[in-house]
Amino acid sequence: MKHTLRTQLSLGFSLIVFVTIGLISLTANLMINRRFEKYVEAQQKAFSDNLAAGLGDQYNTYTGEWNLDYIHGFGMYALEDGYILTLYDKEEQVIWDAQNHDMTLCHQIMNRISLRMEEEKPETKGNFVTFRYELKKMGTLIGYADISYYSPYYFNENDFLFIDSLNQILLITGILSLAGAVAAGTLFAKRITRPIAKATELARKISEGNYGMGFECRAGSRELQELIQSLSQMETSLENQERLRRRLTTDMAHELRTPLANVSSHLEAILEGVWEPTEKRLQGCYDELMRISGIVTDLEKMRQIEGENLIFDKEPVDLFKLVRAVRGAFEPELLKKRLTCSICCTSGDVPVPVPGNEKRLHQVVFNLLSNAVKYSNEDGHIFIKLETSHSHVLLTVEDQGTGISKEELPFVFERFYRTDSSRTRKTGGAGIGLAIAKSIVLAHGGKIWAESEEGKGSRFFLSLPREINK
Ligand code: ADP
Repeated sequence: MKHTLRTQLSLGFSLIVFVTIGLISLTANLMINRRFEKYVEAQQKAFSDNLAAGLGDQYNTYTGEWNLDYIHGFGMYALEDGYILTLYDKEEQVIWDAQNHDMTLCHQIMNRISLRMEEEKPETKGNFVTFRYELKKMGTLIGYADISYYSPYYFNENDFLFIDSLNQILLITGILSLAGAVAAGTLFAKRITRPIAKATELARKISEGNYGMGFECRAGSRELQELIQSLSQMETSLENQERLRRRLTTDMAHELRTPLANVSSHLEAILEGVWEPTEKRLQGCYDELMRISGIVTDLEKMRQIEGENLIFDKEPVDLFKLVRAVRGAFEPELLKKRLTCSICCTSGDVPVPVPGNEKRLHQVVFNLLSNAVKYSNEDGHIFIKLETSHSHVLLTVEDQGTGISKEELPFVFERFYRTDSSRTRKTGGAGIGLAIAKSIVLAHGGKIWAESEEGKGSRFFLSLPREINK
């Protein structure tokens, strides 16, 4: 069974935190324990040294006697702490011995320490070791002290308490951090997965053909926000495609219906003997058939050009020269509509080379100028401008003609799209000129777009890179 992304993320976070906290607790515990053991060991050695020094102080050099009362108190106090003293004079005669004094207490204390240490810290493998000290006063040997204690170290009740509290603190911190991490991980996972779930829902609805849902969701990360935006754009673009597809079908039906109806009614009348098959009537039928054939040719042309655009060689094409040549070809039509057409090049009268295919770029400029002429009103003006930057060449074709409405502007580069106003006029073509231009420009690594205001005119922009894009 596949788990949800949210469960996987939550589990992942928890596992990472669990392992991290576990490792930190373990190393902290080990390090602190090790340090504490060293500290206790050093303390016990220092205590034993101090005991020996203290015993030496109880010898009176003048009388040659030991302060036995004090030594007794001293020895009993040390015994309580686990140190077993035996004091000898310089002839090694016993002066005070803890074991002789209270053998039972000595064994009780030794047993208690050994048992506790074997139980709690068997790894130390310690036992009672006797250390001999030479006692000296002003450089003269006055006796010996044997001090036995559990070596290398032992923990008293306070030490065990300290270590236990430390372990408890580490355990509580670990549990609290883990609980915090699980809660934070779940929240975080929720934050990540919520927009993904919404995006999935959106994609599902789009795949079912539901458009225009107005998807609004803010994601916490840039990547997710981009994913949502891309989906939103995809929705809009699919919706547009769908609308175009429907319109294309209606347009095609409309385009084909009229000539087909004309031809069939003409032929029907001729067959039924209502009409004489005169040359004029047959010519009419032939013209209509030619129109149908023209539409089919356009369809084929579009497919062919899109296929061809995938591969072609690029050579330097002088855009300035090309624009002047295209303008020259339109001279009769410009005259017919009494249009003026100016060409302006910001870099002066010099060649403007771009890497590309001359024939195809010629077709792009031809289509742009042909539209400008077609949709210009009589006595208008057409401006062609060439601007060069270090990386691109920008060609602008501006007219003062009919313009395109805001609603229709985004679709003019789509295949077989014709604005409503152009369809009602006799001027329009099949609606593939700009689609062909766009396809060619894209194959050159460039961009083509338009600005327009209905009733005032249009401005078409063509941007081409000056270097061949790898
Ligand atoms: P067509 O062959 O119909 O001109 P295009 O692809 O060249 O096809 O253009 C698509 C549609 O865009 C045209 O039908 C027209 O409605 C609109 N159009 C293109 N250029 C212009 C322009 N300069 N002024 C106004 N409308 C334009």
